[in-house]
Amino acid sequence: MAEQAQSKKDNIAIVIHGGAGTIMRENLSDEQEQSIKADLQAALDAGYAVLEQGGDSTAGIIAAIKVLENSTHFNAGKGAVYTKPGKHELDASIMRGSDLEAGAVAGVSFTKNPILAAEQVMLNSPHVMLAGSGADTFSKLKGLEQVENNYFDTEARFKAWQEVDAKTKAKQADQASEQDVLDAEFKFGTVGAVAVDVNGNLAAGTSTGGMTYKAWGRIGDSPVIGAGTYADNRSCGISATGHGEFFIRYAVAHDICARVRYQDKDLQQAAEEVIMQELKGVGGSGGIIGMDPAGKPVMVFNTPGMYRGFKTSKESKVAIYGDE
Ligand code: ASP
Repeated sequence: MAEQAQSKKDNIAIVIHGGAGTIMRENLSDEQEQSIKADLQAALDAGYAVLEQGGDSTAGIIAAIKVLENSTHFNAGKGAVYTKPGKHELDASIMRGSDLEAGAVAGVSFTKNPILAAEQVMLNSPHVMLAGSGADTFSKLKGLEQVENNYFDTEARFKAWQEVDAKTKAKQADQASEQDVLDAEFKFGTVGAVAVDVNGNLAAGTSTGGMTYKAWGRIGDSPVIGAGTYADNRSCGISATGHGEFFIRYAVAHDICARVRYQDKDLQQAAEEVIMQELKGVGGSGGIIGMDPAGKPVMVFNTPGMYRGFKTSKESKVAIYGDE
C-alpha cells in the first residue's frame, strides 16, 4: 500500500515557462539572471509542493502561475506589457486533461491574478471564454482580488513601450510598417505551467499581458484553447509563448497533442516538428513547455532563449538561454 502511494508520488511533475524571445547573456546582468532564476525556482517549488501534498494538477499549476504573475520579471500580472494606448490588457487560460474542461479570460484590466479568473470561468460558468469588461465583472462577482490598472505598471515595461512608440513614430515618417517595429521588438514574457498529479491527471495554464504595443482589444493565443494552452490525458499538456498570431493560426498546442494522440509520436518529437519546422519555417517565433501523462517534461523553442524549468521526483532545473 505504502509502496503504491510512493510510486504514484514518483510520477508527479511540473514544468513552467516565463516566456521565450531574444533573451541573450549580454542583455542580462548576473544579478538579473539570479533574480529571474530564483522566481522560476519559487514557482516550481510552489507548484510541486501542492502536488506533493496530493493536490490536483490544476491547483499545482495555479500555485506556480500565481508566483510568476506576481513577479515583475514576467509579462503576466504585475509586470505586464503596455498596449499601444499605454494600458494593460491581460489574457489567461486553463485546461484540465481528465475531462477537457477549460476556462479563459481575455483583455481583463482589473483582475490581479488572471489565472484565477480563468479557473473561475472553468469551474463556475457555463462558458469557456469571457472577454473585456464582462470578464472583469465576472471575476469581481466571484470575489477575486481587483486592482487599479496601474498596479500592473513597471518601469522596465514602460521603457519598452516608449522605445517602440518612438520607433513606430520614426518609421511612420519613413513609410515602414508598424509590423516591422513589432517584429524587431521580440521579447516575450508570458508565463505558463503544465503538471501531472498523483492521480495521473494533466493540467495546463497560461497567463500573459500579450505583446508590447498591441492594439486595443488585440487578443493573442494565450487564452485560446488549442493555440496557447491544451491538456488531454490521452496525449499531453501544453503551454505556449511566442508571437500569438502564428500560434493561433497553426493551432500549436492542439497540433502537438494531436500528433502524439493520432500519430503515436513521442511528445519531444511532436513538439520539435511543430516549433522547429512548421512554425520556424513561416517566421513564427516562440516555444512551448509540455508534459506527457507519465510526467516527462519537454521544453522546445526556436528563439535564442526561454525562461523555463521543471521539477520531478528525480530532477529539478531552471534555465534561460538556449545552450543551458
Ligand atoms: N503569446 C503571447 C501573445 O501573443 C505573447 C508571449 O508569449 O509573450 O499574446
